[in-house]
Amino acid sequence: MSDADVTAQVPAAPDPSDILALDALLSSDELEVRQRIRDFTDQRIKPNIARWYDDAAFPLELAPELGELGVLGMHLEGYGCPGRSAVEYGLAAMEVEAGDSGIRTFVSVQGSLAMTAIHKWGSEDQKQEWLPRMAAGEVIGCFALTEPTAGSDPSSMTTFARRDGTGDNAGWVLDGAKRWIGLASVAGVMVVWAKTDDGVRGFLVPAGTPGVTTTPIAQKLSMRASIQCDVAFDGVRLGCHGRRA
Ligand SMILES: Cc1cc2nc3c(=O)[nH]c(=O)nc-3n(C[C@H](O)[C@H](O)[C@H](O)COP(=O)(O)OP(=O)(O)OC[C@H]3O[C@@H](n4cnc5c(N)ncnc54)[C@H](O)[C@@H]3O)c2cc1C
Repeated sequence: MSDADVTAQVPAAPDPSDILALDALLSSDELEVRQRIRDFTDQRIKPNIARWYDDAAFPLELAPELGELGVLGMHLEGYGCPGRSAVEYGLAAMEVEAGDSGIRTFVSVQGSLAMTAIHKWGSEDQKQEWLPRMAAGEVIGCFALTEPTAGSDPSSMTTFARRDGTGDNAGWVLDGAKRWIGLASVAGVMVVWAKTDDGVRGFLVPAGTPGVTTTPIAQKLSMRASIQCDVAFDGVRLGCHGRRA
């Protein structure tokens, strides 16, 4: 057997950056999106992440940049959202995650949790009010499900909203506590899940609503370039837009 025959039988070494050869399954649009997010991660996240980690600080200035990049509510249609595919969203999340898990968590909580809840269950007014600014990264959203005594099991949650008032004054009063809530202390709006007399509902709680206290959880070992909070709701009065889950 000649040297040339032996060489021909040796399979080509896999590309170390694509060992499962997945790139061949991606369209040119998907590859373009991935490259754009990869470039952003290389330029804006990787050079700064050590400092953000040391400072245990979420870089607020990144929110509008991520909005401009088109990764906030990336898979949602309308209301200023990018309307990209699930594959493109997944690729974007992988690329941001390669820079930092806490920054990727912001992208996911903003788009998949907070914005999707509003997109799916919000009133038309609520969608118009919040989604365009959240897609642009002008408003940060958070998603408050987990509780100190119930974890993320909705059936055990103790946060409760009761109906209050009638006519033009009809609304809800929210009491309870949440834990590990991403970016709650800097959020412009919270999606809060609570039990009611007729099942679990989601409530939008804008920043500055009286009776809401947010306390960042300090001394984290990981996710340091992100913020997670304890949140307390003490007689928080809300309008009439509670949505049944
Ligand atoms: C950095 C960070 C960010 C977070 N951000 C948010 C946020 O923005 N909003 C929010 O609402 N929450 C948030 N959380 C909370 C997070 O979603 C929950 O901690 C997570 O879902 C786990 O739920 P739990 O605490 O109830 O644990 P559990 O569900 O009690 O799980 C504890 C352990 O028990 C196991 N287990 C649970 N049930 C069973 C079962 N039936 N059988 C066998 N094993 C089981 C689990 O696999 C796990 O190992 C965050 C948490 C962290 C650490």
